[in-house]
Amino acid sequence: MLTARSMTPPGAPVGAVFLSSLYHPALYDRDPPVGSYWEASAPPLGRETPPLHDTATCEVAVIGAGYTGLTAALTLAEQHGAGVAVLEAGTPGWGASGRNGGFCCLGGAKLGYGVMARRYGLAETRRFFAAQMESIDLVQQTCAERGIDADITGGGEILLAHKASRGGAVLQAEREELRELVGLDCPVLDNDALAARGLAGAGFHGGLELPLGVGLHPLKYLRGLARAALDAGVTVYGHSPVTALQREGADFLLVTPRGRLRARKVILATNGYTEDDSMRPLAGRLMPALSSIIVTRPLSAAEQKAQGWTSMVMCADSRRLLHYFRLLPDGRFLWGGRGGISGSPAAAARSQARLRRTFEHHYPAWRHVETEYFWRGLVCLTKPLVPFVGKLEGEGLYAALAYHGNGVSFTAWAGRAVAAQVAGAQGAEALPAVLRAPLPRFPLPFLRKAYLTGAYAVYGAQDALT
Ligand SMILES: Cc1cc2nc3c(=O)[nH]c(=O)nc-3n(C[C@H](O)[C@H](O)[C@H](O)COP(=O)(O)OP(=O)(O)OC[C@H]3O[C@@H](n4cnc5c(N)ncnc54)[C@H](O)[C@@H]3O)c2cc1C
Repeated sequence: MLTARSMTPPGAPVGAVFLSSLYHPALYDRDPPVGSYWEASAPPLGRETPPLHDTATCEVAVIGAGYTGLTAALTLAEQHGAGVAVLEAGTPGWGASGRNGGFCCLGGAKLGYGVMARRYGLAETRRFFAAQMESIDLVQQTCAERGIDADITGGGEILLAHKASRGGAVLQAEREELRELVGLDCPVLDNDALAARGLAGAGFHGGLELPLGVGLHPLKYLRGLARAALDAGVTVYGHSPVTALQREGADFLLVTPRGRLRARKVILATNGYTEDDSMRPLAGRLMPALSSIIVTRPLSAAEQKAQGWTSMVMCADSRRLLHYFRLLPDGRFLWGGRGGISGSPAAAARSQARLRRTFEHHYPAWRHVETEYFWRGLVCLTKPLVPFVGKLEGEGLYAALAYHGNGVSFTAWAGRAVAAQVAGAQGAEALPAVLRAPLPRFPLPFLRKAYLTGAYAVYGAQDALT
């Protein structure tokens, strides 16, 4: 068990302020509102999370107040009696956790299960899959037990073929692979079956039904987690970007613009918003990527019927540069996808136009329906295309991150797992090998955006041609 520690006086010099990042500065500006539908529809946090001033000490410092950081902090405080402080550059949930699509479903890795089984072994692949299933339950349990009303909608997830060549036999082969490798049976649905389920769009060619997962309001869930962490005695410092992370004897010193936090152990939970210069142990090891969302005005029952799309089941398409979409409880339609390469405001306008084009292609009956919200954010990839959870090089330093655009559910598992390791309650072997493999640097990390540009060009061509 960990124990809370008392305050200690300041000691070390403040490190240099580093602020380098891969994308346009607009993406890291915590001042303007995100502009999301979630922000407009979630009750406020209702608690103060003032910035860190002067010097404070805690046993475990967590950097980043998204799902990962808050889940880890809550677990450490409640289950392991630790004194925990969370440092967040914006407000809690400012990152991807407050602005995602709310798909709480299988996911976390971009690597296919076939390659995963060859690389890590079938048993370890199955352990990773079991962890993903467990994490969907953990999110629902957390909401139920803590009274978090996150607008949960059921129904699983359907992967829709966007071309005839990605339907039929290809869907059957995916079904076989899932059944054989991870024991999940996913029915293949033709267009008639989809229409009967209230899923009639244009340009879809059948789908694969994954009978797992729920939709939720991401910011309501996030704020519920933040309240639970504060109630459990966690200190959350908002508007406190860590600009340097230094070793000081057996401790760490975390430097923010107005204060310093000394901690025995540190968890990095900065995911796609990790900046290389302030988070040196992760420098060059992560690939942030943009994802964007449009949300329409509420569709009337007649408008939904006119398109034949009345179901609230979560969907994604078969494009390699995929879209994810769902009807929200108040009748709005959420349509998300790739968010471009530069991150500049001009590029944002282009992403919005691209999303709108594909939305209208699949939902011609809704061409007149206005977009009311558009926003974007950063997800996080690694070179091996799997998440990382556990200890980094050096004593006392941990991370849980890189869910490949699919962390709404898996952060619940990852946050608990990293907390248990930090507390010494479980060792690395408790994790599937998929998650604890070393986190390698990208070759020539300054070329990361060039790699992404190349990959997008290839994937875009594959989506159009095959
Ligand atoms: C547009 C979009 C749509 C998505 N849709 C889905 C979806 O439908 N389903 C799904 O499963 N996943 C989705 N995701 C991914 C999912 O949101 C993430 O995987 C998940 O939220 C990651 O949570 P996290 O806590 O690890 O990171 P984040 O929520 O990104 O939190 C990291 C936090 O660290 C803070 N931070 C960074 N650097 C510092 C620093 N130096 N000092 C202090 N704080 C710092 C940031 O401000 C940020 O708040 C989506 C992501 C985006 C952007």
